[in-house]
Order: sequence, then structure tokens, then C-alpha cells
Amino acid sequence: MPSSTVENYLKAIWALQGRDDDGELVPIGQVAERLEVTPGTATTMMNHLARKGLVDYVSRRGVRLNNEGRLAAMDVLRRHRLVETFLVEVMKIDWAEVHEDAEVLEHVISDRLLQRMDEMLQHPTHDPHGAPIPGPNGELGCDGSLSLADCGPGSYLLRRVREDDPTFLQWLAENDLRPGVRFVVQERNAAVGTLAIRVDGGGKSLQLSVPAARFLLVTAE
Ligand SMILES: [Zn+2]
Repeated sequence: MPSSTVENYLKAIWALQGRDDDGELVPIGQVAERLEVTPGTATTMMNHLARKGLVDYVSRRGVRLNNEGRLAAMDVLRRHRLVETFLVEVMKIDWAEVHEDAEVLEHVISDRLLQRMDEMLQHPTHDPHGAPIPGPNGELGCDGSLSLADCGPGSYLLRRVREDDPTFLQWLAENDLRPGVRFVVQERNAAVGTLAIRVDGGGKSLQLSVPAARFLLVTAE
């Protein structure tokens, strides 16, 4: 089993069980769906991961990462997010274009190279999309946790954006919507499912659909 496959499963299980692990098992069907494989393939992999001591797997009920598995998932996430930060900050690649390359590089980059990137970037805490970068010991910092889709009128700080949709990222950049930016929700129109927002210091008001707002994580100001 190539290590990249193992690592992608660990990341998927971590994403599905949520960062505040409540001990619930993740159904194998959900893992299979997320990775676009058959349930049979996912089940074979669960047995493999359990033998490697990375997950607790209960046949026909589900799976969760144990402590070893969680640390391994944090290691992949750290590599992914540091690579993205390096591609944007040092190599000046557009933030909409880095996710796919990071998906590949996260599995192959050496610890030595990663450490050097981390130093050159002066130990960043967040990637270009606002996602927290796990520390070298797997510790994960505070995250923006409120989805803009659930917010009413008021002032907000944009913390984090969805990273895997280049078109959406380009639209955000064109409208100065980047992590760290403050903006106001002026109106929420429940009838048509839109939010009217205005970026601080920007003139015009923007219309955002509620499904798009789901991909912006904010904190209320
Ligand atoms: Zn990414």
C-alpha cells in the first residue's frame, strides 16, 4: 500500500470525525464516498490501518483515528499547509492554484526540506486560505468556526476560506475577501437565500449565496 494512499485515508477520517473528537465512529461508507472508492476498497484499507495501529476499527460500525493515527494525520496536514504557504509566499503562485500541487507534494517532501521551508517562512501559523498549520508535535491552533451561512447582519472577521475551488478563490481575491479581512453583513434575504456584505474600506456591496457563504469561516467582531 503506497504511503500516499494511507495518508489520504488518515486525512479523510480526520476530516470526517471532526477536530473535536467525541469518540463517535465514522461510518466506512462516508470514508469511501469522500475518497471516491467503493465501500469494499475502504474496508480493506481499514483492516490495513488497524493492523498498522493507526485506527480503531469496528467491523460494520465504523472507524476512528487513535492517537498514533491522529498524529500521522496532523503530520500530513502540516506538510500540505506549509507547502501551500511556501508556494504562495515564496514562489508567488496564486492562492487559487496551489491546492492540487500540495496534494501531491505533501506525500513526497522530506522532513529536512519541510523544516527549511518552515524556517524561511518564519514558522507561519496559518496557510494562505486561513487554515491553521499543525505544529511539529501535531498541535492545532484556534480556528474560525462560525460559517458565514449561519450569520445574520453584523461585523465579522474572515478567518478561513474553502481552498479547493480555484474559481471561487479567484472571485474572493477579486473582491478583497481574504483571511484577516473585516466586513459587514448588511442584509440577509431568506426568501432568495442571499447575503449582502460589504468589505471594510471597500465601496460596493456584494451578493453572496448561502451555499457559497458556507465556505467562509468567520468570527463575529
Ligand atoms: Zn490545500
